[in-house]
Amino acid sequence: MIQQNMKSENTLCVCPECKNTVDLSRYPNLAPGMVIECNHCGMTLLVKEIVNDQVKTEIVDEGK
Ligand SMILES: [Zn+2]
Repeated sequence: MIQQNMKSENTLCVCPECKNTVDLSRYPNLAPGMVIECNHCGMTLLVKEIVNDQVKTEIVDEGK
């Protein structure tokens, strides 16, 4: 029995800013287009795509 989710337990997201692994447990339905926040540096990241359990993100410029 294989459970089909948007992301697997092994999905990994490395923050492009601080290079730490972002805690994705807060985002159970992670999908491209979603905005997440790095739990290490607080950077806002836009999910571009999820490839082979690797989440590709882009830093969101909040335009201060
Ligand atoms: Zn970070």
